Amino acid sequence: MLEIIPIGGYGEVGRNCTAVKHGDDIILLDMGYHVPRYIECTEEEGETLRKVTVKALREAEAIPDDRILGDLRHDVKAIVLSHAHLDHIGAVPYLANRYRCPIVATPYCCAVLERILRDEKIKLHNQIVRLNVNSAIRFGGMKIEFINTVHSTPQTAMIAVHTDDGVILYTNDFKFDNFPTLGKRTNYDALRRLKGKIKALIGDALYAGTEQKTPSESVVREMLKDLEFDVAEKQGIVATTFSSHIARLKSLMKFGFDLGRRVVFLGRSLFRYCVAAQEIGLVDFREVKIVRYADKIKKEIKRIGKKKEKYFLVVTGNQGEPKSVLRRMAEDKLKYGFSDEDCIIFSCRTIPTELNRKQRKELENELKLKGIQYFKDVHVSGHGAKEDLRELLTMTVPELVLPSHADKENSKALSELCDEVGIKSRIVQNGEWIKI
Ligand SMILES: [Zn+2]
Repeated sequence: MLEIIPIGGYGEVGRNCTAVKHGDDIILLDMGYHVPRYIECTEEEGETLRKVTVKALREAEAIPDDRILGDLRHDVKAIVLSHAHLDHIGAVPYLANRYRCPIVATPYCCAVLERILRDEKIKLHNQIVRLNVNSAIRFGGMKIEFINTVHSTPQTAMIAVHTDDGVILYTNDFKFDNFPTLGKRTNYDALRRLKGKIKALIGDALYAGTEQKTPSESVVREMLKDLEFDVAEKQGIVATTFSSHIARLKSLMKFGFDLGRRVVFLGRSLFRYCVAAQEIGLVDFREVKIVRYADKIKKEIKRIGKKKEKYFLVVTGNQGEPKSVLRRMAEDKLKYGFSDEDCIIFSCRTIPTELNRKQRKELENELKLKGIQYFKDVHVSGHGAKEDLRELLTMTVPELVLPSHADKENSKALSELCDEVGIKSRIVQNGEWIKI
């Protein structure tokens, strides 16, 4: 018998964690934190995070409540991570030590995780096992297959858990991008091979309610090419995006070089994700100066502020976070000296939480006061929308779909899509125990 235990990330966006049980074998899929709740708990103090206890994080619902497994945690054979985003790996430093088993992830995800552990001075006894996309590994009676897909961070895998009683397919997070700017398109053949074998599909429902197919990342590359003409005569050009979006950062690097400028990335998280990509030979950022520490960033910005026209900066702060580089530049705490001859490119979208909206508004007001031109939404999402999901369902034809990674509304939208294509679905909550 197959059992699925949704531990985190159902009916909410964040702290993803799902257990799959078959006989005496259990696999944990992802171990993330809930980003806004986690930030609330830890509140950055300068460079370092305030230390918080696992208990406090659990109470704040910032990490998955894995106590539901009880003594069965000794049967967990592996913690398998789908990709390097913090809502999928962020709780590993807090929870993985509770399990006597390895952590399995793609090389990029491992490199990011190891950097986090090093930065936060956390030691885990778990072995970290690198598994490339489009390959598989066995644990007891289970085979774990990583199916390459496309998302807003490199080497993202859909995870197929193969057992004698059928397959569980975990698709958090994915989009069907046929022209990705980094890595290969989704391995459709591998998905088609699973047709008729899937007992349950755990679906990325984040944009199930959005009636479109998510555009390709190559669209943003073209948007940036177009912008080159608009901004060429500007003095200062500054961009901001998600630090883990290596494909986007690669396009931004090219944008800067096309404009004949020196390219500088500023911020701790940019450093972390870019150096991890560099380490495993994914993207060559050697021509980019990447500055990590606050005091060095301060000096660098002051220096660049005197000859802005020679530089293109990519900085942290796309959500308007108060302590980010961009926000401090806008508030003149960092002496870049923004003026009406400068421009800013927001290669992102505002993640729709009340706090983010407020912070972005504050930042934009600051920029308006200074007369800075800004270009918003130079961006496409890393998550598939309704038509990506329809394709996924018709390609794999699972017996049951469990919507996840979404609020109630979008979970319901995926459920309705399942009705449309004639596939059963069930909206489940964290802490339920589903027997299949
Ligand atoms: Zn993600």
